[in-house]
Amino acid sequence: MTVRTRIAPSPTGAPHIGTAYIALFNRAFAKHHGGQFILRIEDTDQVRSTRESETAIFEALRWLGLDWDEGPDVGGDYGPYRQSERTDIYREHAAKLVASGHAYPCFCTSERLAAVRREQEASQQRIGYDGHCAALDPDEAARRVAGGEEHVIRLRTPHEGICKISDQFRGEIEIGWETVDDQILIKGDGFPTYHLANVVDDHLMEITHVIRGEEWISSAPKHLLLYEVFGWDAPVLAHLPLLRNPDKSKLSKRKNPTGILYYRQAGFLPKAIINYLGLMAYRPEGDLEIFDFETMVSTFDLGRVSLGGPIFDVQKLRALNGHYIRALTDTELLESLKSWLLHEDALLDVVRMAQPRLEQLADFMPMTAYLFADQVPLDPADIDQAGKESGRAAEWIQFVQWEFERLVCWQPDGIRGCFQSVAEREGVKFKQLLGVFFRVFSGRAVALPLFETLVWMGRDMALRRMQYAQDSLREAGIGLSGKALKRLEKSYQERYLEEGGKDG
Ligand code: GLU
Repeated sequence: MTVRTRIAPSPTGAPHIGTAYIALFNRAFAKHHGGQFILRIEDTDQVRSTRESETAIFEALRWLGLDWDEGPDVGGDYGPYRQSERTDIYREHAAKLVASGHAYPCFCTSERLAAVRREQEASQQRIGYDGHCAALDPDEAARRVAGGEEHVIRLRTPHEGICKISDQFRGEIEIGWETVDDQILIKGDGFPTYHLANVVDDHLMEITHVIRGEEWISSAPKHLLLYEVFGWDAPVLAHLPLLRNPDKSKLSKRKNPTGILYYRQAGFLPKAIINYLGLMAYRPEGDLEIFDFETMVSTFDLGRVSLGGPIFDVQKLRALNGHYIRALTDTELLESLKSWLLHEDALLDVVRMAQPRLEQLADFMPMTAYLFADQVPLDPADIDQAGKESGRAAEWIQFVQWEFERLVCWQPDGIRGCFQSVAEREGVKFKQLLGVFFRVFSGRAVALPLFETLVWMGRDMALRRMQYAQDSLREAGIGLSGKALKRLEKSYQERYLEEGGKDG
């Protein structure tokens, strides 16, 4: 048997450090066994998936050296590797399950489902689908489908008994079937849900080992049931522990940078990141702390994977990165600096931005230094004073953070649009708003053109600098409290999302 593993990210935002962690373990395991590592793009969420995010995933994983043997951009014998190009396959498979009685069309309207939910909440019952359409006569259901009535396809799920999941790391896990809903397999728009597409693809792509994050354990019963009703063997399941913030909460961008491309922009070395991510759940023999990917491959043993909640601590990663930098020769370090941001393409962009403002060549370095930094020195009082009233700057930064996260295309016009939307909704002059952000990104009141520099530094670094600014405001006692943040989030949803329509 050839070992085949995969990483299956959804292209719905900035490539996440957690994706690199899971990819690393899948790749190391496959390579240890002389097998293949596959990249599959799970873009079944038509609204949130973007090509920009997909490209960023390729770029981020490649930068880390986590290359794949098969994938949307490199091809392979099991393609297409993008789920949006496989919808016919999923529909055919769903139709087979309907024909065999293992799945059924459901015609419940969203109003009915909402009413059922309200009732369940009021009577403190378990929240979930009540099985209304499971009892429909199959012929009648088929007639309604043929007549064009809107529907979804649901999996017929047992509601009693225990599902036993054998997990490579955790042994046997038991989940009661009463907690598992009749999962939707095909949505109203004809697209599959994650569960159906994932199982069908893992089977057709002959994936032998599914190594993924522990957040998917609760989905395993649905997946195992699907394998069973299709009459297929399930792959080996192995759920890795989730990365955590130093306070043990689930890794979150408020407490830790989570975008892989932030780490590239901030000058971390791929080797150091790979080593650190490896350490999150693995130690080669002798409890070695410093190891490279090849060592991980040659020694890899699923039995050595540890499950204790791994803490992802940027300070520790920094220390490890320093170790790797010091181990380089001077010429290697120079090469690393060049391929980081001192290469021609990156510098030419900076030169273009700086040229209109230069009077001496010697102005160049001080004028542009902030672009090459991770954190710039900030004066929280100055940022606060640049707002209309005290406290407003922190709110604007937060609103722009949310707008940036939703922005599809990270280009000057879109970035300008984010600032404009906040200026209009907050009733503040555009210039005044930008005054706050010059300070946030450069540490100064005047700097290079804002939108272009943001494109240059990348979205992840931009978000990181805003986070630094929020932290420094908070430390100075003029930032957003947890309560204020919640209030702001509500107001953002009401005023920016609903009123602005579904433009995200
Ligand atoms: N698309 C899922 C994700 O974004 C894949 C989960 C899995 O590996 O099955 O994480």
